[in-house]
Amino acid sequence: MIDSFRHKGLRKKLVEELKSKGITNNNVLEAIGTIPRHLFFESSFLEFAYQDNAFPIGAGQTISQPYTVAVQSSLLDIQKGDKVLEIGTGSGYQAAVLYHMGAKVFSIERQRELYIKTKTLMTDLGYRIKMFYGDGYLGLPSYAPFNKIIITCGAPSIPEKLLEQLKPGGIMVIPLGETVQTMTTIHKTAELEYIRKEHGEFRFVPMLGNKADNDKK
Ligand code: SAH
Repeated sequence: MIDSFRHKGLRKKLVEELKSKGITNNNVLEAIGTIPRHLFFESSFLEFAYQDNAFPIGAGQTISQPYTVAVQSSLLDIQKGDKVLEIGTGSGYQAAVLYHMGAKVFSIERQRELYIKTKTLMTDLGYRIKMFYGDGYLGLPSYAPFNKIIITCGAPSIPEKLLEQLKPGGIMVIPLGETVQTMTTIHKTAELEYIRKEHGEFRFVPMLGNKADNDKK
């Protein structure tokens, strides 16, 4: 796994591009400037790794666009030591960015193939991220509550179980909608008290329900 000067140069350019698109959180920019995004790609697609685009990662899924990762990571307002739950591990890139920012990351993926591939990659890279194979709609009740929850697939509505697993004072960042998603933050100000805000339109792969049920369809 090589991280060359060329890769570092391309990462610098990507960070400048994200700044020009309005990303200002220095911890986010520093993480994106450090994480070798090309290692989350198949080797034959390396030239695409530092373009500000989403890209296929197999199993019909995509690695999120760097701009989207930057927006979601900024909205989470990560503080060192925050316990963060991610729904949709995918390539693991978003989880790696949060880990680099000092979060304790727990991430769930419903595609077994991706879960296995990404778990190996995280071990190889030395990123201590707790990964789970399962249905993100259920969250991780035994590890709850979380300071922050990030959903990286398009959710038709706010999953009730995830709201319950958010700590009072915590933030959920969730792209809401079927074909186009509105980036939404939910601040849990107290038990059962929420402030909801919208942050523009994005496009995500869908958040799917129970795998066994979907496979039958
Ligand atoms: N954060 C990822 C984005 C991957 S795309 C990255 O940085 O690469 C979204 C992922 O959400 C896909 O891998 C998809 O399989 C997964 N997903 C969809 N519905 C899910 C669910 N109910 N539970 C867990 N993961 C889910």
